Amino acid sequence: MRPAPVENTGVRTVRVLLPLPLADAYDYSVPEGFEVAPGAFVVVPLGKRETVGVVWGEGTGEVASQKLRDIVDILSALPMADPLRRFVDWVAAYTLTPPGAVLRMTMSSLSALEAPKTEMVYRPAQIATDAKTKLTAARQRVLEALQDGPAMPVAELAHLAGVGPSVVKTMVAAGLLEGMERRVRRTFPQPDGQREGPALSEEQKYAADALIEKVRAHRFSATLLDGVPGSGKTEVYFEAIAAALAEGRQVLVLLPEIALTAQWLRRFEDRFGAVPASWHSGLTSLERRETWRAIADGRVKVVVGARSALFLPFSALGLIVIDEEHDSSFKQEDGVTYNARDMAVVRARLVSAPIVLASATPSLESVTNVTAGRYGALHLPARHGGQQLATLSAVDLRKNPPTRGRWLSPPVVEAMKQTLAAGEQILLFLNRRGYAPITLCRACGHGLECPQCSAWLVEHRFRRTLVCHHCGYSEPPALACKHCGAHDQFVACGPGVERLAEEAHALFAESRLELFTSDTLISRDEATAAVERMIAGEIDILIGTQMAAKGHHFPNLTLVVVVDADLGLNGGDLRAAERTFQLLYQVAGRAGRADRPGRALVQTHMPEHPVMQALVANDRDRFVAAELADRGTAGMPPYGRLASLIVSGPDPAAVDNVCAAIARRAPHQTGVTVLGPSTAPLALLRGRHRRRFLLKTGRDVAVQPLLHAWLAQVGLPGSVRLQIDVDPYSFL
Ligand code: ADP
Ligand code: ZN
Repeated sequence: MRPAPVENTGVRTVRVLLPLPLADAYDYSVPEGFEVAPGAFVVVPLGKRETVGVVWGEGTGEVASQKLRDIVDILSALPMADPLRRFVDWVAAYTLTPPGAVLRMTMSSLSALEAPKTEMVYRPAQIATDAKTKLTAARQRVLEALQDGPAMPVAELAHLAGVGPSVVKTMVAAGLLEGMERRVRRTFPQPDGQREGPALSEEQKYAADALIEKVRAHRFSATLLDGVPGSGKTEVYFEAIAAALAEGRQVLVLLPEIALTAQWLRRFEDRFGAVPASWHSGLTSLERRETWRAIADGRVKVVVGARSALFLPFSALGLIVIDEEHDSSFKQEDGVTYNARDMAVVRARLVSAPIVLASATPSLESVTNVTAGRYGALHLPARHGGQQLATLSAVDLRKNPPTRGRWLSPPVVEAMKQTLAAGEQILLFLNRRGYAPITLCRACGHGLECPQCSAWLVEHRFRRTLVCHHCGYSEPPALACKHCGAHDQFVACGPGVERLAEEAHALFAESRLELFTSDTLISRDEATAAVERMIAGEIDILIGTQMAAKGHHFPNLTLVVVVDADLGLNGGDLRAAERTFQLLYQVAGRAGRADRPGRALVQTHMPEHPVMQALVANDRDRFVAAELADRGTAGMPPYGRLASLIVSGPDPAAVDNVCAAIARRAPHQTGVTVLGPSTAPLALLRGRHRRRFLLKTGRDVAVQPLLHAWLAQVGLPGSVRLQIDVDPYSFL
């Protein structure tokens, strides 16, 4: 029963949401003389400490006044706007996460909430100007440096005058310079929406005009921008960005982390005369603070970022663009499990702005949203300038096997020879990091496994280590087998990119070879430099994982080899075929971007598989139709809904107990199926035993209330964790 509201004591109370995984917001009293608006950032006591929270609304009045605690302070940061607060609540409700955990994602720079930092800057005092000629040369240079410019901090001034900082400091002490306090504020270059873009083709212009109209309408709309690689999707959404800038509104562009390249930024700069603000995991805390603030007060107009940028405090958001919208990296798998693409549509709706979803291989979800009339669609059917897409052919590995211990088939080696002879470039694509995915002991057949996960250790030969790709555990390669004690009997099974590099080097010793993976190119700058070497023609053979598959334009690349096209199809998850098609189509799209026709050779053991057939026939739509039909028959997304429950803990018996309790209370109603519990494919992860349930329902069933009612009845011992994943992408 709800407690009766306390008597009106005249105390004003507000609900304050804290950025912590708590069930709800807490009531606090507002001390006399404080003015708090909804959305204000406030400091409140919590237990023995103090924490920053956000005023979420009027108090519930359910807490007796003697138990209420006062708000301690109100921060100077601009209050969180109403649509962002509603967005937090929406995401929390949809993903079944505590709202405070979602709130924390909006407070990604705590220092941005504090009073802005200040610094001392100096300008000449009157006595210095009067006595100028009597000063030392060094001191005169300092005054000259300040002559027409603004007041400056010591270090900057000393640098500009070419003197040591002590010269400036003694001038301050002598009263020759006078100091004043100034707020530190980074300035952001402003992209110019008035600049002329390229002349658009008729189809591009049609699409651009349609998007411009939506931007000017200041209303919610969702549009799929569907066009083959190189058809000008980016140019088209740039026009929409220009329109938003002309309206004085802000723009958010979300890209998959890997596609967030210097190339994209340079292109933006060429078009708009300034780089956009970028938001990603590599920012320093100072950059985060300044960017966060400038977004909140509207000084930053365009933000490009990975999925976390969705939670930034825009004050006048007028357009969201999701590029490569099909990319599964928009799904965040740990912490709050959410799909940034889907949540971006919600955010656009809450701020009444249009959203554009761009892709050459749209997700089946977006395709059905178009068919059902929820999204509009614009098509760009041809490559800009009439270039042909790469011709794609399958190489049947059953008929053309590579020699034993090799991975490149004879037709591929032949094609590589021709390409190199013509002075053109090659991309060998293999979505497997390291040297070999499995290392076995020849004597006993024992494979090297991670001690904390049910996964093989992957050999990284260049770094001389064995690594678990799930938890990061690593150990040096040993000589003796832990199992049977045999010495020097380890053998690498299967290829990774490093092993492929070894093979390519053995075949083409003269060629310049480079690896393009997250292990070799750790930083963004290293990746950029590699892309530049490739464009400059300093690399003949690029060997890459999916990091190489996205967003790069290599004009002299004319041969793409997909070394193992079957790799993604064996996982057996819902989107295996869809993802493989998208990935291989994208990889093939790297070839022949300029005036040279490209070709893509796809090595496979199953050329008759619908994915390979569709790729070879260059018939995306037929593939999509067939895949959708399969999903429809099975009642799977996008026609049905899924939610995963992952139960995990260090003690398998405790995990099984919880699973039994969950299973006993499983909902029984038509249109709802509960599968499981079953041991997760990744049965052990970081030392935790994992079991899975899968909830499957029709599209018309609201899964959140169902999950709520179901799981509220189940108690969890402290060691067992229950993770809910609505619309799961991973089934491991
Ligand atoms: P997509 O985003 O569909 O892959 P892009 O917008 O990247 O396509 O266009 C591919 C290439 O063609 C880019 O180098 C782009 O600058 C160029 N391009 C596209 N449309 C035009 C145009 N109308 N005028 C000049 N260049 C264009
Ligand atoms: Zn591991």
